[in-house]
Amino acid sequence: MKAADLHRLVRQNVLNLKPYSTARDEFQGKASVLLDANELPFTTGYNRYPDPHQRILKETISAVKLVPAKNIFAGNGSDEAIDLLYRVFCNPGTDQVIIPQPTYGMYSVSASINDVIVHTPSLTRSFDIDIDAILDAVTPRTKIIFLCSPNNPSGNLLTNSAIENLLNQFNGLVVVDEAYIDFADTTSWVPRLQEYPNLIVLQTLSKAWGLAGLRLGLCFAHEEVIGLLDKVKPPYNINVLTQKEAHRFLTTRQIEMKEHVQTVLSERNRLADLLLSCSAVDHVFPSNANFLLVRMKDAQKVYHHFVRKGIIVRDRSSVTLCEGCLRITVGTPEENHQLIQALKLI
Ligand SMILES: *Cc1c(COP(=O)(O)O)cnc(C)c1O
Repeated sequence: MKAADLHRLVRQNVLNLKPYSTARDEFQGKASVLLDANELPFTTGYNRYPDPHQRILKETISAVKLVPAKNIFAGNGSDEAIDLLYRVFCNPGTDQVIIPQPTYGMYSVSASINDVIVHTPSLTRSFDIDIDAILDAVTPRTKIIFLCSPNNPSGNLLTNSAIENLLNQFNGLVVVDEAYIDFADTTSWVPRLQEYPNLIVLQTLSKAWGLAGLRLGLCFAHEEVIGLLDKVKPPYNINVLTQKEAHRFLTTRQIEMKEHVQTVLSERNRLADLLLSCSAVDHVFPSNANFLLVRMKDAQKVYHHFVRKGIIVRDRSSVTLCEGCLRITVGTPEENHQLIQALKLI
């Protein structure tokens, strides 16, 4: 797909939209007296509105991720980026998306909220892309294919050649959600944005960076797509605290983040071995993320036993291809020890 074809995918009302212009957008240059936004003039630490364009934060993200700032959108969590993609590209009631299953639930929930029709072909038995099943589900009204790699809840990477196939063959957008990329034994799709105008990569500070409470999701895409997301977003979607703290972590805590990731990875591998030695466990799926999908001999029994011990895991046993499975996040060595001790008591 060529960059010129992106235009055709956008909703007409979004193309026509004249976006809200913030007080700070309406002047250029240096200001020392700000009487334009009805803010309180006294300093509370937060009396000023945040930068609606998040310029400093985006320069930092640009330096860390090696991608031009014009290709970055910052959202109030990835969930905001997902919602905005629907609002920019999908006409309610008529347009369609493809969400191969099992995967992250928000793609479908957000589709329903936006009244977008969802097709849900299955991934393969090993949770990889089934090209034929996906292409069979494509109609002239299909706007987006959502892929998640490493996939939640299965933990595996999707095959790059299959993603490439879809990028080449599908005349719409392909979203690759890389929420768990920092734990994965592979490289990001971000450097390939120049090759594929229809590629959209999602990342987040909620997982490896340990900043789930800050709510910062990132979307990397062709600058035209970024421009459309910016046009539709709430003007001040990233608050002052989040912009400041995310900037601080990205500039000063990169080494610490990598150390945390290394610890989680060695704990994940240790936890996988320990789980396999428990009689309640049937299978541990290979993982490129910070969690393990585990098939139990009796998932309900294990789940409720864990709850009684105060240990909460994610019950995925009613999800397509995940029958009998629990999804277990890798914790601290002590938490993982408690989990295994509890499991041995069954
Ligand atoms: C956790 C997760 C996210 C993160 O969402 P945020 O809104 O950024 O916290 C995104 N995608 C997937 C697949 C996830 O598992």
